[in-house]
Amino acid sequence: MNNLRATLQHYFGYSEFRPLQEEIISGVVAGDNSFVLMPTGGGKSLCYQLPALLLPGLTVVVSPLIALMKDQVDALQAAGVPATFINSSLDYSEIEQRKSDALQGKIKLLYLAPERLLLPATLDLLDRATLSLIAVDEAHCISEWGHDFRVDYRNLSTLRDRYPNVPVIAMTATANQRVRADILEQLRLGNNAKTYVASFDRPNLNISVQHKSGVSQIFDLVNRFPGESGIIYCMSRAATEKLAERLERQGYRALPYHAGLNRESRTKHQEMFERDEVDVICATIAFGMGIDKSNVRYVIHYNLPKNMMSYYQEIGRAGRDGLPSDCLLLYSSGDRSKVLHFITEMVDPQERAVALSSLDEITAYAESGKCRRKVLLSHFGEDYPEENCGACDNCLNPSLSEFFDATTMAQKLLSCVVRLKESFGISYTIDVLRGSEATKIIGNRHHLLPTWGVGKDQPTTEWRWLATALVSEGYLRQRIEAFNTLSVTEKGWEVLRNERSVELQRTRRPEKKGNQKAKGKEVLSETEQILFGQLRSLRKRTADRQNVPPYVIFGDKTLQEMAQRMPLNHDDLLQISGVGDVKANRYGRAFLELVGRFVEENPGVKGTQITTPSPRITVEVGELSESAEITGELFNRGLSPEEIAAERDITLRTIEDHISDAVLHGLIQDIDRIVPNEKARQIQGAFLKHGLEYLRPVMDTIGEENVTWLELKVVRGRMLRLR
Ligand code: ADP
Ligand code: ZN
Repeated sequence: MNNLRATLQHYFGYSEFRPLQEEIISGVVAGDNSFVLMPTGGGKSLCYQLPALLLPGLTVVVSPLIALMKDQVDALQAAGVPATFINSSLDYSEIEQRKSDALQGKIKLLYLAPERLLLPATLDLLDRATLSLIAVDEAHCISEWGHDFRVDYRNLSTLRDRYPNVPVIAMTATANQRVRADILEQLRLGNNAKTYVASFDRPNLNISVQHKSGVSQIFDLVNRFPGESGIIYCMSRAATEKLAERLERQGYRALPYHAGLNRESRTKHQEMFERDEVDVICATIAFGMGIDKSNVRYVIHYNLPKNMMSYYQEIGRAGRDGLPSDCLLLYSSGDRSKVLHFITEMVDPQERAVALSSLDEITAYAESGKCRRKVLLSHFGEDYPEENCGACDNCLNPSLSEFFDATTMAQKLLSCVVRLKESFGISYTIDVLRGSEATKIIGNRHHLLPTWGVGKDQPTTEWRWLATALVSEGYLRQRIEAFNTLSVTEKGWEVLRNERSVELQRTRRPEKKGNQKAKGKEVLSETEQILFGQLRSLRKRTADRQNVPPYVIFGDKTLQEMAQRMPLNHDDLLQISGVGDVKANRYGRAFLELVGRFVEENPGVKGTQITTPSPRITVEVGELSESAEITGELFNRGLSPEEIAAERDITLRTIEDHISDAVLHGLIQDIDRIVPNEKARQIQGAFLKHGLEYLRPVMDTIGEENVTWLELKVVRGRMLRLR
């Protein structure tokens, strides 16, 4: 066991295992076949990387994402792990060199693209090498039942037949029962395979849903993470471009990504994102599969996701480094209708039924007043044990949701389902309830049913909401296999027999926007924030020099910890999570020097004691004065600072102070009127370089002839806001 921990610390710089990692790794080292179901960011890679270092021979890793191989291998090499890859991007002599390294034991981990598995040259290599382990990443690609089937993955079966005694570890983040069984069968993992299913909970994700009121909701969130990375999912290609352009105009570094862009732009945009050269990617669902970036701070769904599984996968791209990250779904009934419209145009009835029930699930989720985590995890068959997760809008803001007694409405709906002999879907049932005289209904003589028209008092949307809620709460069953026809469950019958009442929870509408507070956001103090900025630029320079993405050098979490603990020597540095021996030797000096200089230049500043957990410090911001509030309101009504000064008979200087205070407090959102975008960006850059404490160095950098104090103050206010 000590051996495992020592290796973990030495190469990866971590002192603790994540849940299940230790069990899985010991099993793999002992020769188990294993199947690992773990959410994105759960730490699957370590489960084969660490064994590879401990096992005598070669570990072969099969991964579908050729684009990622280089980055993964770069990251391992940066940590001193002897790893390499072979794929079609290499020329003959490079391949031969790597093969010979593998045969000589100079390489412990060999990444292979699936299409290479059965090439004679590959088989020849594997025959001659001592194979210790076969690791299959994204194992769901082997199954036709999964959403990412890759024909080449079938080669793995053949490989298994050829090397039946080499243990296998198969890993995935998405697999329902059917896919799971398929993976075990295809890989011939047999009955003795150890199966590990990690919790799908991602406690560092703050999850919220808001009723969509406009693009300002996006700005609110993006502004909370200035200069950090985020993904905004949109429904259409046009929408991604429009939004990216709009963000760009407002001074954010944003780019679109969708399947309509040519390959070159797609690769370029993705690469810029991975390398922290662009902050926001506005994307269709085409974006994400090949993203290994760990420091994505937020994922916004500007439109409804396709289904709960893809939603979970998409938000899962946030916060893989374990730092608090925000996931915001913007929901509107208009969007719902749009999707519904697409669905009605689907030709295949089975496909239509699946799409419709997916849409209903998402709607029920969006409109639910229950803990988001609870609902999400229930889709993975997981029962979330806590009453209050503390990191979703409904748990943080229970006042936004309300309980109400829906027994009478439920009885009407349930009895209508029974009268319709459980042979119709939600829409038809609602039409009957609302007394529709559609030909179909008259033709079926359903206008003669006693429940016809008893639901006239409520709009269709209310009934639909109720129906989906009753499905998700188990009063009704929706049979996907039978065109989504509804039937009443035992629990539903209890309601009909008056043995049970129905209490439902839903969000209040319209919801107040922008008032949810992120829980546990690890706030750096202002000074730490500045150091963090400097560490980030050092990381970026280092990464560029080596032509790798920044996270390969150190993750954000590691840099944040450095900014807080301010290590001053090699031993201190090794205490930081994510710094292993090799990285400490390779990059340590530059980072230590930077911290040392920073501490020297900022007398009085001291890192939190190494070895004790660091306290979290929040920037204290005083209340906004009443007078400043009035100024802010006037400004928002369109008055210029000069006009406000004249109107209120107060000096311009004071008004300017009011304005920067109002920006800091978020009362003034739109600072374009004071400082044009381009300039704001330039100022922001200067602040990141010099720190936020003093205006002077920034003024000197940009030049007094080019910038006013007010401009500096409002930009600083915006940067500090909500940080
Ligand atoms: P997955 O493949 O499951 O999506 P990764 O293997 O990429 O996840 O791991 C996600 C992140 O968690 C990476 O940044 C990784 O370095 C980090 N990580 C993995 N194991 C640990 C650990 N034991 N302690 C701290 N961080 C870890
Ligand atoms: Zn919750």
